[in-house]
Amino acid sequence: MTEPVATEVGRDFIRDIIQADLDQAKYTEIVTRFPPEPNGYLHIGHAKSIALNFGIAQEFPGRCHLRFDDTNPVKEEQEYIDSIQADVHWLGYDWGKNLFFASDYFDRLYEWAEKLIRDGLAYVDDQTQEEIRLARGTLTEPGKNSPFRDRSVDENLDLFRRMKAGEFPNGARVLRAKIDMSAGNINLRDPVLYRILHAHHPRTGTKWSIYPSYDYAHGQSDAIEGITHSICTLEFEDHRPLYDWFIEKLPVPSKPHQYEMARLNLTYTLLSKRVLTQLVRDGHVAGWDDPRMPTVAGMRRRGVPPAALREFVKRIGVAKANSVVDVGMLEFCIREELNRTSQRRMGVLRPLKVVIENYPEGQTEELEAINHPDDPSAGTRKITFGRELYIEQDDFMENPPKKFFRLSPGNEVRLRYAYFVKCTGVIKNEAGEVVELRCTYDPATKGGNAPDGRKVKATMHWLPAATSVPAEIRIYNQLFSNPSPDASNFAADLNPQSLEILSNARIEASVAESNSTEPMQFERQGYFVRDKDSTPGKPVFSRTIGLRDTFAKEVAKG
Ligand code: ATP
Ligand code: MG
Repeated sequence: MTEPVATEVGRDFIRDIIQADLDQAKYTEIVTRFPPEPNGYLHIGHAKSIALNFGIAQEFPGRCHLRFDDTNPVKEEQEYIDSIQADVHWLGYDWGKNLFFASDYFDRLYEWAEKLIRDGLAYVDDQTQEEIRLARGTLTEPGKNSPFRDRSVDENLDLFRRMKAGEFPNGARVLRAKIDMSAGNINLRDPVLYRILHAHHPRTGTKWSIYPSYDYAHGQSDAIEGITHSICTLEFEDHRPLYDWFIEKLPVPSKPHQYEMARLNLTYTLLSKRVLTQLVRDGHVAGWDDPRMPTVAGMRRRGVPPAALREFVKRIGVAKANSVVDVGMLEFCIREELNRTSQRRMGVLRPLKVVIENYPEGQTEELEAINHPDDPSAGTRKITFGRELYIEQDDFMENPPKKFFRLSPGNEVRLRYAYFVKCTGVIKNEAGEVVELRCTYDPATKGGNAPDGRKVKATMHWLPAATSVPAEIRIYNQLFSNPSPDASNFAADLNPQSLEILSNARIEASVAESNSTEPMQFERQGYFVRDKDSTPGKPVFSRTIGLRDTFAKEVAKG
């Protein structure tokens, strides 16, 4: 793939509208909100919405609310409420005192529903869900009026109050707005405002036996909070006339305007809470924070820095038309940030033992290694050179093709920060696999340069056999092997090779001893972060991302 071109950032159609509104003195303060439903963990699509809404509140005079749209107690849990707050904070945003719940407005929403009934604008419908669905019509055919549509105000009020009192079983009746069953916009064909649900709500407990629909609660919640610019994704564009209808008919304290933007879609990724929930429930991944998940929690565990996500969201911008962003763009932002911020260490993913035959037995020496090539303040550290080392299996070939410059019999290479070494012998097991190399080193090349000026074509990472530490390293590939996975049959598109476990890897002792959760670069291998599955005897490291975009190249090669 080609590296994404840096685009002009910071301006988009929503910010333009806000600026124009401020210029015309329509508002003195801009109020936005991020309104998650607490029915799952946040994903990177939500990060786009968070960065936009909280970003606007930082750039303009204003504030951004965090509001939980907790209208469906069947799917919502405290765990999700907690994780969403943690994730927004981790992304670098803060709602201050402005934490709200749609459930805080249940009383007011109920009062307003009674008002609609009294004004002849809502009615209790006894039809089943299926009957309602069938009578709704299609894009080309009008719907049919419910036989219960012309109930008297008194009967409606009585039934609605009894719904609230818990007199009827789940699904027995609903409250519907009385708008127009032949409206071209299906959302206006007498939408459901309340349904009966005998369910425990995380915040209101068993107080309610009826719950408002999302469509009924959402706009009024915005109005109660004085939201000026209510930003949502494009699929709600057709709901706007309904939201405006409520705002017009109800004595709301303010009139928010809704603006729709494109959802974030990413190649090789599904950003739907329904799919993500199923991935977790069906055990396709190890939880919401599995490092292969596109969730904020998954990316955090994988070592993705929040600054990389903010940069990504800035680069993709905010548009009015849906599109699919190449996941390579996200990876580019992660690499760029980690290259800048992470310290260098050495790790050998697939170790091959090397014995330096002319290095005295029992002797060791400390060599100096640089922690960050572009940041001298990161300092240096010592690594121990000795007679027995490990190199990467891939860095040796017994019968190399022409352009293989790394280690092969007779060929000389540089071991990073150490010496030039030359391969003099190969030891194999019964299966004919190379299990050990014999090498010699040139003591005159200490530090990695030859006084006679001779050159080598490869510099390789390595670790001392005695003092390096065994570790498990987890390499992640795309969770889906299809660039546009099928959300309705996603299991078929799962990549069977999305997780590769290297259980015999080795890392520098200092890395193993440190409990740091900062990602670091293992030279020539990529960026790695300590995983919470580490035990005192066995550190586990996850690869956040490789150094280069090998994935896109593999795809291009076919
Ligand atoms: P999903 O469709 O993944 O199940 P949702 O949109 O129902 O998620 P909400 O909790 O309602 O999830 O989303 C909270 C906010 O995040 C909404 O304003 C929604 O528009 C926004 N959002 C959700 N997914 C995306 C996305 N892919 N790109 C941009 N914004 C998104
Ligand atoms: Mg939603």
